[in-house]
Amino acid sequence: MANKNSIKRRKFLQLSSTAFLAGLAGTLTGKPLQQEGLSLVEEAARQVGKLPRRKLGYSQRDISVIIGSGDLATLPTEAGILCGMNYWHKANGWMREGTPESILKNREAHYCQVTVDRVGGNHYEGHFDEEEHYRYVKQAVKETGLGYFDDMQLHYGYHNVAELKSDRSFIRAFERLKKEGLVKHLCLSQHSYDGSPRVENGESAAKVLTAVVEDGLYEHAQFMYSYGGDPEMDEFMDFARSRNFGTIAMKTARGIGRMREDKSFMDSLPEGVAPHNALARWLTTETKLDAVVMRVRNLDEFVESYSGAGKKLSMQDALAIEMLTTEANRTACRLCGKCQSQCPQGIPITDILRFERYGMDDHDWEKASSLYAGLPTKGDACISCRNCVLACPINLQIPEKLAKAHMLLA
Ligand code: SF4
Ligand code: SF4
Repeated sequence: MANKNSIKRRKFLQLSSTAFLAGLAGTLTGKPLQQEGLSLVEEAARQVGKLPRRKLGYSQRDISVIIGSGDLATLPTEAGILCGMNYWHKANGWMREGTPESILKNREAHYCQVTVDRVGGNHYEGHFDEEEHYRYVKQAVKETGLGYFDDMQLHYGYHNVAELKSDRSFIRAFERLKKEGLVKHLCLSQHSYDGSPRVENGESAAKVLTAVVEDGLYEHAQFMYSYGGDPEMDEFMDFARSRNFGTIAMKTARGIGRMREDKSFMDSLPEGVAPHNALARWLTTETKLDAVVMRVRNLDEFVESYSGAGKKLSMQDALAIEMLTTEANRTACRLCGKCQSQCPQGIPITDILRFERYGMDDHDWEKASSLYAGLPTKGDACISCRNCVLACPINLQIPEKLAKAHMLLA
């Protein structure tokens, strides 16, 4: 995440004079600070108000409907705390940055999650290793100063149901750490590996997650979900709810970044509607999700997005969500993976279109290009057979998108 607001967090409270904040916070108000005695952080928090809370999983913990992240910039983090944000995923990110003093001072009021990768790899490569996961979490507990993590999250999830059933190393590491009081609950973020040419027998997020719920060891999961919904994930959420399994959406702003740069599209939206605000309303009131991740980079985005949390959609918002969905279905991949097994060239379509989202929506071109460079097969291998288009639930024009992605990322 581009982070113009980032400073070492332990320094934050020492440095948070109004003048300093005004220098960092950019154009929150677009004019000089007006509220005497209020910092921009406090003003942003006031505009957002208290975030609603929802019950999470079998533990029925009360968590803020928008959760925070260990890689969130400093000022939105502090504003989030003032708004009652109390669940922090990727809290092990604070090993590098320093844990916010306001969380350390009030540790019991927050749920902090350690996110653990496969050893020596990424989504596709690497392996589970009980000793290494155990060692990493202990190190993260020590370096963050948190004393314990509430949740231990398996990053990227399982490739297929067979892997969940056969490799219990991650779960064994969790059980050892739990006995020592260093973690409490088990959770995962699950990507779709459906038809992926980069893993053996990859399966969809819904299929793996259904098996995870039936397995009964994990308490909640993060997965990709955005406006327009997804029938497979909608069905999974019904099932999850019937089993008291918690659901948190990530990568929620499908295609909004590029839409915001399209003046004619933005001009066509109903007057007064901000896309991220409408999205926050939709995600938190019109879906079966327990909570959501919405990336913000600064206080402007914090106010625009999070002030919609828990509020009903107005007529204009509902119309905007319809327009965003139509536009996203034309331009941005849902990352469901349904197309991949159809490709005779073994092109990792979902990966390429995910990297394209990092560039076009998050403007993180460095990350997008470097990930693209690591792909064994790239978009220029496409022979335009269009098998994938027939399999795509939103009929995305995949060959054209791959050609453009290759031009942008290669
Ligand atoms: S059109 Fe290209 S990406 Fe799609 S299936 Fe054919 S070769 Fe693969
Ligand atoms: S291109 Fe279509 S089928 Fe393939 S992952 Fe994206 S949304 Fe799913």
